[in-house]
Amino acid sequence: METYLNFIVIQTEPIGAIIMKMITEKIADSMSHPLEDASHNSHQQDREETPSCQSKEISGIANRDPIEPLLLPIHELEKSVWLKDVCSSCMGCISVCPAGTLAYDHERNRPHQITSCVDCKACLDVCPRIPANNQNISSQILGPYISIKNAKSKIDSIRSQNGGVATALLTAALDEELVDCALVMGQDPWSQRSYPRVVYDAKELKKCAGNKYTSNAILEPLKDLIKCTKNIALVGTPCSVHAMGLMRRSSNEFAERVAQKVRFVIGLFCFEAYDESVIADISKIIGEPAWRFDGMNIGDGKMTIKLRDGGFRTIPLQHLAEDVKTGCKACADFTAKLSDISIGRMGSASGMSTVIVRTSEGMGLFDIAEDMGLLEVTDGVNVEAIERASRLKLTKNGIILSDIFGGRHQYVRSKSER
Ligand code: SF4
Ligand code: SF4
Ligand code: SF4
Repeated sequence: METYLNFIVIQTEPIGAIIMKMITEKIADSMSHPLEDASHNSHQQDREETPSCQSKEISGIANRDPIEPLLLPIHELEKSVWLKDVCSSCMGCISVCPAGTLAYDHERNRPHQITSCVDCKACLDVCPRIPANNQNISSQILGPYISIKNAKSKIDSIRSQNGGVATALLTAALDEELVDCALVMGQDPWSQRSYPRVVYDAKELKKCAGNKYTSNAILEPLKDLIKCTKNIALVGTPCSVHAMGLMRRSSNEFAERVAQKVRFVIGLFCFEAYDESVIADISKIIGEPAWRFDGMNIGDGKMTIKLRDGGFRTIPLQHLAEDVKTGCKACADFTAKLSDISIGRMGSASGMSTVIVRTSEGMGLFDIAEDMGLLEVTDGVNVEAIERASRLKLTKNGIILSDIFGGRHQYVRSKSER
């Protein structure tokens, strides 16, 4: 009954439709048929491969009592995350799901179910928006760290808001064969849409340098990537890093098998990200097509767009407020506390980055990059400035620090409630 009451509180459709949907889902689950038409998602292949995947890899889960009420983990995700509009779009759940149950719905900015759930609970273990997953995360505003430095890349022609430090670290990891590949965000220069890109050669990293503000889905390719690689380095926003950190802490076999392939997790400071609609809105405001953009940069309360002809246009961020991802409004982490190394502009002079080294693995990679002559490193980080920005994010999002780390979120209102 409690479950149904929860649905009544948060549902945005007529209750009759919700109950019918739940019944239909349960029947469909028991028949092992897909619940939703997957024709508009990009994971058709996952769906087709699912039966063999289940029979080979998941034993015992199918022996469920047929009359046992079905409140599957996927329903918990739906109730606690998706219907509350707090999904960060990190795709952590998709990356660990062994049955191909989930695919990303770009219309609704969150995963949805495309085939049967086998109740392994991996998705619940790694979701950064499940309140229980925020327990045991450091309550220090910057999170734990070993060292905090100013740094910038010594590699030529790196265009990056973050002093090129992430590129320098990945160059060290690839050149020294510490990892097989790096997972970074690339960008389509025509549409300006960003997408996860796997890089095997450090020379390719230059093409991926620069800021991306329209996607944080770095974990999406992990599910396939772990099948053909031993060690991966990835660069992600705090929500993706949070999911990775939870994966590393999880004892769920499906979460573990992904986590053990990720050797380095590099986090980027993040205040908020935008839906893809922001590109069209920027184009409209500045009167230039997306293909003429040559870089975007956020700072001092405005978005600056560099154009291919060398010109610049600026837009106050409040003009783009409607495009901020809904899930970002429930985000508490500015500095990616569960990374090995966090990087951001805040706290450093122009052209430099703040580098927060958090783990011994991160320290090792940072030292190697410095020893290889890839980094210029100095002291003097303005830690107070980073703490101020971290608190501002908490205040802006209406989240009280003690609530988060006490396991209780103060959620934002959903779009339908506004
Ligand atoms: S990860 Fe496991 S519990 Fe979650 S949706 Fe996939 S099969 Fe279901
Ligand atoms: S926050 Fe991430 S892990 Fe949680 S439901 Fe959304 S995409 Fe999945
Ligand atoms: S604000 Fe940044 S870290 Fe938080 S959910 Fe949005 S993209 Fe992820």
